Amino acid sequence: MYIGTALPKVLYGAEVWYTPTPEKIRKAGGKLRGSVKVTAKLASTQRAGALAITGGLRTSPTDTLDALANLLPFETVIDKWCYRAALRLAALHDKHPLRKPIKRCTRSRVKKHRSPLHLLLRVLETDARHIGTKALATYNPAKPERRPFEVRIPKSKESSKREALAASEEIQVFTDGSVINGKVGAAAVLTRPGKNHRLLHYHLGNESEYTIYDAELAGLSMGLHLIKTEKKACRGTMIGADNQAAIKAVQNELSTPSHYIAKDILHTAQQIKKRRGNKPYMLTLRWTAGHEGIDGNELVDEEAKKAAKGQSSPPPTLPRLLRQKLKISTAALKQVHNKEVKTRWKNKWAKSLRGKRDHQIDNSSPSAQFIEAISNPKLPRQAASLISQLRTTHIPLNSYLHRFKRVDSTRCPACGAMAETVQHFLLYCPGYAHERWALEKAIKCKPNTKMLLGNQKSALALKNYIYATHRFDNKPPSNGE
Ligand SMILES: [Zn+2]
Repeated sequence: MYIGTALPKVLYGAEVWYTPTPEKIRKAGGKLRGSVKVTAKLASTQRAGALAITGGLRTSPTDTLDALANLLPFETVIDKWCYRAALRLAALHDKHPLRKPIKRCTRSRVKKHRSPLHLLLRVLETDARHIGTKALATYNPAKPERRPFEVRIPKSKESSKREALAASEEIQVFTDGSVINGKVGAAAVLTRPGKNHRLLHYHLGNESEYTIYDAELAGLSMGLHLIKTEKKACRGTMIGADNQAAIKAVQNELSTPSHYIAKDILHTAQQIKKRRGNKPYMLTLRWTAGHEGIDGNELVDEEAKKAAKGQSSPPPTLPRLLRQKLKISTAALKQVHNKEVKTRWKNKWAKSLRGKRDHQIDNSSPSAQFIEAISNPKLPRQAASLISQLRTTHIPLNSYLHRFKRVDSTRCPACGAMAETVQHFLLYCPGYAHERWALEKAIKCKPNTKMLLGNQKSALALKNYIYATHRFDNKPPSNGE
């Protein structure tokens, strides 16, 4: 809920006023620059969110809260936000009024008085001119009869296979995209009874710049090109592809990125239809799931793998769009950026003092594991908060209360030991030996902090233990403590 409703409000318009720290400095771990102060102010709202999610105490450190709640640190959140905004701008279609200023900004390197647009596009690292743009619709989606082909998406895999085997079209084209070892490629094959197969390959490039979806669309584009260049036209033609998303893209032509390929596909299909004139002609775009049993599909699957490994047909034989390097996919860039941001966060956390301590309990943090553990519907909210507090060690036990000068001594009220710490309370205090015995039976092994606070299965047993000790009864945990 915090991510869905609170964050967009806090960050609304951030791409205009926010000055991001240059990516180079950030990667090297240098001092942050730009809108540092205001970021810190806004970060307090995220802290409030993290406190509400985990039920931690007011003194809990922010980085621990973020790690436990699996929330990206705020300065990273705002970076991610700006990166996405920059991508959105770079992917605007050619007729958009902002398109020209964006091109101008990427062309020139300004040293002084940079505009917000300059600053924003700087976070991209990729030249905005090489990024795939959106396309404007080429036909009215409300009039499917004007679509230059028919689309068939059978309900299930089985029925799609049956339909593909029963297909009666003379020309059958199969297309496929493939990703191998981080490389992306696509292939198309045209089969016609009594003739040799015709094949096309296209190697797109790295997975960091293209998605499998781009490959599927490139495959469709090549498939149409094969039909277009077939010498003897014939009445029945079909294209089989095993990716529903790609088929739906050319069916609906929504304006999401990579659709410039879909637009090109539609354009080619219209050309073919026009060329056939009044002669009987029919093109069916069919979803053919799975590879077993359908010869054409099996073949093209193999060929797409070759294309992914680097094989490409000579440019003159390819459709015009594929004769040069395809525009970079925003979806792929976004994925890479997300991953990068997360890894950087994880590394920073693992290196920090609190992170090292927390990793002794659960070395997967920051992850969703802790949130899942305390989100158990059988676990009352109060107990979930107490578990969070045990994990952060910011909990009203005497060693904590003494640190913040709320009590005079760190002594344990149950047994009189020198320091009442989280470990003492959970593992050693003889005053709770009886309760601990029940806990041991419930989790079926000798308790340790890793077991109790890092494992979601023991959350309920831990709750029973905490309640049985009555240690927190007269001090209901609250954020004001
Ligand atoms: Zn004790």
